[in-house]
Amino acid sequence: MKKKIIKKSNLSNKEPTKDISKDDIKNKIPLVTSKNLKKVKISKDIVFGSNQIPIIAGPNGVENFELMVKVAKQLKKNKINIIRGHAYKPLTFPYRSKMYKESKSSGMDIMDEIKDNFNLKVVTEVTEIGYLDRIIRTADILQIGSRNMQNLELLKEVSKTKFPIILKRHFGTSLRDFLGAAEHILVEGNENLILCERGVTIPHTHRPTSRFALDIQAIPALKEITKFPIISDPSHASFWAPWVPSLTYASIAAGCDGLIIETHPNPKKSLVDPLQPLDFKQFSNLIKMSRKLSKVFNKKIA
Ligand code: PEP
Ligand code: MN
Repeated sequence: MKKKIIKKSNLSNKEPTKDISKDDIKNKIPLVTSKNLKKVKISKDIVFGSNQIPIIAGPNGVENFELMVKVAKQLKKNKINIIRGHAYKPLTFPYRSKMYKESKSSGMDIMDEIKDNFNLKVVTEVTEIGYLDRIIRTADILQIGSRNMQNLELLKEVSKTKFPIILKRHFGTSLRDFLGAAEHILVEGNENLILCERGVTIPHTHRPTSRFALDIQAIPALKEITKFPIISDPSHASFWAPWVPSLTYASIAAGCDGLIIETHPNPKKSLVDPLQPLDFKQFSNLIKMSRKLSKVFNKKIA
């Protein structure tokens, strides 16, 4: 009986597993698990993986110029340096949001103007290799969305640009698979990698519309095994604005190296996911509290 138990605990690394084994670290994910601390520098004042917690904020989509101007002003008011907004955008359901059209290259033109006028860095999602040329003329950080986490050709081409990349964890993957996807980026020679926890699917009962649950323990778990910056996206995890502050503070306490927060001047009017963005007052309050809280952990919101 005793022997049997010992045998079980010595399961071969070759057997399928969700856990990350020594063999994985050596042979499957050596780059993403390298022991050297990795910092991702966006400008001289913004560094992911430092004592800063840079916040990336903005609406879901680049709907129009007026919206982006309002958001940019709000970010400046709160001394936030990175604006987000997608011009290319996958939707979960094809029939939803008939009013919503991807703004595509005209959305990127809007982001160009915002960059010039407000001196903000831009994060936007790359959904297809074909859009990459246009996107890199404007963006400072390229986001790979959850749904594309294992789109390996996309990872490869995005990596080749050498731009900083935010890789979002797919909502149904183990950390092992997440790091495997990250390795695909690193093996192409781009080390400007930021990993993002954005909630996982569980059969939860909190609230039908919350959709995902932020895997808060993924932050310390990832930090045990990778030295790349780990950021958290409480907005997409909860899908529900009233929960975003708690999840933000929990992420700061868990050691996140950055945050993605959706904000919109009039969330109800947001053409995609209107329950999710914070309005400007909620956003300002969140930033204020986050500044206080991050001090406790010797970090600062950037
Ligand atoms: C987003 O950041 O707007 C987004 C769609 O996120 P995710 O890919 O995590 O769903
Ligand atoms: Mn979104």
